[in-house]
Formats: sequence, structure tokens, C-alpha cells
Amino acid sequence: MNWTEIEQKDYMQVFERLPVTLIKGRGMYVRDNKGKRYLDFVAGIAVVSLGHCHPVLVKAVNRQSHLLFHTSNLFYTTPQLKLAELLIKNSDMKRVFFANSGTEAVEGAVKLARRWGSINLNGAFEVISANNSFHGRTLAMIAATGQQKFQHPYEPLPAGFINVPYNDIDAIKAATTDKTCAVLIEAIQGEGGVNIPHPEYLKQVRAWCDEKNLLLILDEVQTGVGRCGTLFAYRQSGIIPDVVALAKGLAGGIPIGAVLATEKASVFVKGDHGTTFGGNALACAASHAVLSYIIKNDIPSHSLNMGTLMLDGLKKLKQEFPCIADVRGKGLLLAMQFENNLAKDTALACLDMGLLVNNLKPNLLRFIPPLIVQPKDINKALGILRKALQRVIEQCE
Ligand SMILES: *Cc1c(COP(=O)(O)O)cnc(C)c1O
Repeated sequence: MNWTEIEQKDYMQVFERLPVTLIKGRGMYVRDNKGKRYLDFVAGIAVVSLGHCHPVLVKAVNRQSHLLFHTSNLFYTTPQLKLAELLIKNSDMKRVFFANSGTEAVEGAVKLARRWGSINLNGAFEVISANNSFHGRTLAMIAATGQQKFQHPYEPLPAGFINVPYNDIDAIKAATTDKTCAVLIEAIQGEGGVNIPHPEYLKQVRAWCDEKNLLLILDEVQTGVGRCGTLFAYRQSGIIPDVVALAKGLAGGIPIGAVLATEKASVFVKGDHGTTFGGNALACAASHAVLSYIIKNDIPSHSLNMGTLMLDGLKKLKQEFPCIADVRGKGLLLAMQFENNLAKDTALACLDMGLLVNNLKPNLLRFIPPLIVQPKDINKALGILRKALQRVIEQCE
């Protein structure tokens, strides 16, 4: 029996997987069970920030696995507190809480906002979030995620979430009531299709939150940790949020999430929130190694430069292929949008030619390579993408 059949027989059928079984990886490349090599422009959905099995990460995980995996938060542990120090030193935030995933980090941020509301806003509990956002898959987070397809099968949803159009300050203003405690948005919508707001949007939201004493929660689970060209994407918009959620690239492939908050917003008291696995020694040692490497080597600037190079290449492809409606991105969070639903066929053609890309939507490809990507990798990816487009378009005609 092959792995595809086992998956269909044994696994809950929720994932749309590409027909390839991956065995190992190194740097920008992964290899399947037949020995075929692929250039990886998916990176485990923007997670494998230093590329596959980076020596720095391997060493940190190895080292920690001989010392201590897990203790719970009933005790102090050194990897957790070293990571906390590093994050606080390099962010504009003053306190941190570690979770195990992006969903958990954002949900923790929302719980913090509800405590803010109960303390400072007469029990206000509603959180305004955006259409086409993505904040995770728990019941509360699908209520925050403004996409019908995630919400509909699970109604009734938890109360207290209002979804409004993204990139529209008036919509946030109109939705604000005396029950509102926070605004939750992404700096750039990742899963929603790499949607970049106009440059003033975050500033406008910041000003509105200040005026109404609401917490501004930025979900930087995808945009953070250098992906968009600065350590945190909000640093390009001239604002400082009250709460930041991180996850994906934070430990280069080991599960971790983090809620960061300013001193003012850190209103949790003992017992208000918790976790068994969150902040465990192994994940924190991994994350500390990854984050130190990213900061020391100024990887955010590198992703900005590499992103510019890639976007230039994508723009050239757009000129060549009229079926491409738009190309966009910031740093190494990039997308190609088609006039028609060509994304899956293009992704399959790329796969065939040894390139992994993410067909995020029927009409949209997303490119989220490891942050250590080099010009030669980008040129190679663009070359394969061009051939894939030629092949797909020939089939259409
Ligand atoms: C991926 C993602 C999440 C959810 O993270 P998980 O680790 O899958 O729970 C939340 N918010 C954003 C912006 C994301 O991109």
C-alpha cells in the first residue's frame, strides 16, 4: 500500500495535499520518497524560516534534547526565560506568554483583550476583526476569522466577534460600540490572499483604538519574525500595537506561539490564562536559536531584498502572460493572482518540474520561501514558474 492510500484510509479527510510524500530536507530543498528533489517555496507555510534542518536549529534541538524537554509552567526554566528576554529586547513589547501555535497565540490575545474590557471598559467584550482574515481554527478563532467557509459548518459561533471589511477604517468605526474591547487585524492578510492595506490603514486603526481606549491586536503569526522585511511587519507602518501574536516562523519548524503585549495591555493576573506545553524547554531553545540567528544576521533586510528581486521577476512574468491579473507582496510574502482558476494546474506543473509553490486559492499562488533564500534560488524558481505557465496556458488554448 502506498502513502496516499494510507492517508485516504486512515487520516481524517480534511487536507487538500499535493501528490508527493516528503522524507527529508536541507536548506532550500526537500526530497520525496522516490528520491526526487524539490526547491521549496512553501517552507511548511512560512514556518521553516532558516530552511530545512539548518545547523543552528539542529544543534539547539540536539543540545536541549540531552538536557530537558518539558517541565510545565509550575517551574522556572532557562530556555523559556532566555527566549522571553530576547523577544522583549527586540520588540516594542514588555511582556510575553508562550503557546504552541498561531491559533493559541491569537486566542490568548483575545482573552487578554476581554480582561482589558472587563477592567477598563465596563465589561466590553466584542472584538472587531476583518473579512478575509485568518486567525486559526478553534471555535473562537473561526468566529474571528472573517471567512464564511470556515465558519458555516460550525454555527452557532462563540459570541463577541464582529467581522468588517479589511482596509476600511470607516467600517471599524461604524462597528465600534460601548461593547467593543479590541480590534484584531493582520498587518498583511496572509491566508486571505496576500492583501496589503493602504499605507495609512494601520495608523488610522491605531488612532481610533487610542481614541476609544481599545486594544489594537496585530496578528503577526505569518508576517512576523522577518518575513516581510522587518522583524515585525508593523514596523513599516510607523505604529506600535498593544498586543502582537507570533508563531509560524518563530522556531523554524518546531511548534511555538507567542503573545506579546505592552505593559499597559498586560492585564492578566495569576490564574487568568495557562498552558501545559506552551513555553516548553525544547521549543524555546529552538526558537531562541532561530531568533538569535535572524537578528544577528539581519535576516529581515535579506528577506526585503530577496522579496524585491522575486517581485521584479513576477512583474516580468505578468507582462509576458496576460492570464496573470496581479502580482504583489512585501518581503518574502508574495502572490500571483490569475484572471482564471489556473493556480492548481500551475502548482502541479511546478511540482512536476521540482518546485513547491502554494496554490492558496483557485486563482492565486503564494510564495513563502525560507528567509535564507538566495538570488540563484529565486532565479531558478522564476524559470520553473515560467515554464509551468507556458505549459498550463498551452493546455488551455
Ligand atoms: C497560520 C496563521 C494562524 C494560525 O496558526 P496555527 O499555527 O495554524 O494555529 C493565525 N493567524 C495567522 C495570521 C496565520 O497566518
